Amino acid sequence: MNSLWSDAEAAQFSGPLGPRVYSSRLLGRDKSLVLHGGGNTSVKLREQNAFGEDEEVLYVKGSGWDLETIEPAGFAPVALGYVRRLAGLERLSDPRMVNELATHLLRAGAPAPSVETILHAILPHRYVDHTHADAVLSICNAPQGERRVREIYGDRVVVIPYIMAGFDLAAYCAREFPKQAGPNTIGMVLLSHGVFSFGADARESYERMIRLVSMAEEHLASKGAWRVSPPAAAPSPVKRDEIARLRRAIADCAGFPVVLAANDSPKFLGFARHPEVARISQRGPATPDHVIRTKPLPMLGRDVTAFAASYRAYFERHAARAAEKKTMLDPAPRMALDPELGFVAAGRTAKDAAIVAELYDHTIDVILRAEALGGWQALEERHIFDIEYWDLEQAKLKKAGTPPAFGGEVALVTGAASGIGKACAEAFLKRGAAVVGLDRNPAIEKLFTRPDYLGITCDLTEVRAVETALDAAVKRFGGLDMLVLNAGMFPSSQPIASLADDAWRRAMTVNVEASLIVMRAAHPVLRLAPRGGRVVVIGSKNVPAPGPGAAAYSASKAALNQLARVAALEWAKDGMRVNTIHPNAVYDTALWTDEVLAARAKAYNLTVEQYKRNNLLKTEVSSRDVAELAAEMCGPLFAKTTGAQVPVDGGTEKLV
Ligand code: ZN
Repeated sequence: MNSLWSDAEAAQFSGPLGPRVYSSRLLGRDKSLVLHGGGNTSVKLREQNAFGEDEEVLYVKGSGWDLETIEPAGFAPVALGYVRRLAGLERLSDPRMVNELATHLLRAGAPAPSVETILHAILPHRYVDHTHADAVLSICNAPQGERRVREIYGDRVVVIPYIMAGFDLAAYCAREFPKQAGPNTIGMVLLSHGVFSFGADARESYERMIRLVSMAEEHLASKGAWRVSPPAAAPSPVKRDEIARLRRAIADCAGFPVVLAANDSPKFLGFARHPEVARISQRGPATPDHVIRTKPLPMLGRDVTAFAASYRAYFERHAARAAEKKTMLDPAPRMALDPELGFVAAGRTAKDAAIVAELYDHTIDVILRAEALGGWQALEERHIFDIEYWDLEQAKLKKAGTPPAFGGEVALVTGAASGIGKACAEAFLKRGAAVVGLDRNPAIEKLFTRPDYLGITCDLTEVRAVETALDAAVKRFGGLDMLVLNAGMFPSSQPIASLADDAWRRAMTVNVEASLIVMRAAHPVLRLAPRGGRVVVIGSKNVPAPGPGAAAYSASKAALNQLARVAALEWAKDGMRVNTIHPNAVYDTALWTDEVLAARAKAYNLTVEQYKRNNLLKTEVSSRDVAELAAEMCGPLFAKTTGAQVPVDGGTEKLV
């Protein structure tokens, strides 16, 4: 591991916190050091208070900030003298500790200081860096981890046995550090947890961290335990229905829908097929820092019932402690290892699932390296339990609040690259759903860049293309809950007497057949939706009120309408709802250029403004209006409605 320090880069970070921000970001850049909000850093500064008196202030990473992207505002200033004194207390509950830290902040609106703040305070150095480096964890979690750590580092580090983060750990370190520290000490190893480095300036502290972690890496390399990879494995074809069934089972177990991301990359698949997978994956996480997001153990195979039973047994082994903590049993797995599917991560959002996968990616390295050193040993189960049901974590869960309407759900929108389809994608994303957008236009792929969106270029009239797109969607998000059939085309106006065969066939193919292809292919997955599948069909005012010259369009939309009605009849027994929206005069779509609009308005002897509002309410209907209704139709408001046809047209005189 090399130092990434650059004087030129460092110079761009000014102010008293500049060097602290810069070297924190350097640590954050390397995912083998810190992952997703893990790790923390601090600096001790002297500042003047309102009376002009000098005060010692500890700036420590605040919660909710990631080292990679931290800014000066991400550091919480606390009164150093007071916080240091806390370490000398006989005892202090963790919630009380959090309160003491929060009430000794020196800037209104600062983020909550890290729960490891007191640890930073007691270390007698200006800069302190803390990571959960993979290499150090591999060594701690191998046989005779402590002996190895002492052998590698000698008097360079203070070694602390495993104690859960919080007041007890800080108080222990405050007592132990002065006993062990000497002139050569540049850091501190917390066994099975992570490593601290410190120094007089940002660069010294950072480069000592790099040195300490490099020493761990060199030790692993010298024992043939650095370059490890699971046995090679070739992926099996995607099993859409099986992934969706697994997702449904996990959601039933959790009590809420989840996004499920399957990953069959060679590393994950190889690990899932590792001959010792049952032994090495069932001992616990690599670091306590990962417990909350991943739960203690991955599920093996696809049998959720068996997993829940084993998890219940785990819980019952701690029944007394659980009763004391008044905690709830949560048997839902956050991840599974399956020899065919590979690694499967569950989360309440696509982002959460991605985080689980990234954490486990590093866990695999740590496990395999510790294995190569003689045998992976995870943290003892009682410690894992303590963290999982830690007061502070429970408090965080309670604070998390209500999830968004479509949290954990997946919506597929056809024709989503523009117009109503794009507005639908936005409406569903806004409500917390993961969205799959399909369109012939390749712009669909870059429509949004966020972890909960997948855009696929797809010709919906091709059965195989639709199957492939569904495979990708289910592999990425685990299933489908909602389907918006929006893709369609509007052929140029032609009276029946001169209607071209091609125009007729094209309208029928795109507006009816493509929707049938998508519905038929999606049905087996859609019916596994935890809250029941929902389909919204974007119809047209032309269904109840066709127009002259629009035979192909009107007939195709009418056929689509019948298709939706039959689906409502056939799919109701599976709790699936199918409803139709009939928009009219939605002019903010690519179809309606300014010129077309002007020409049409002129034909009716109206101004463009009058033409746009040519309805009973004299109102303009936008793509967003249609999209919002489509999303609401998938929500609780329409929970008891199926087979309905709702106009969004400002009111049409002939149809009232
Ligand atoms: Zn830590």
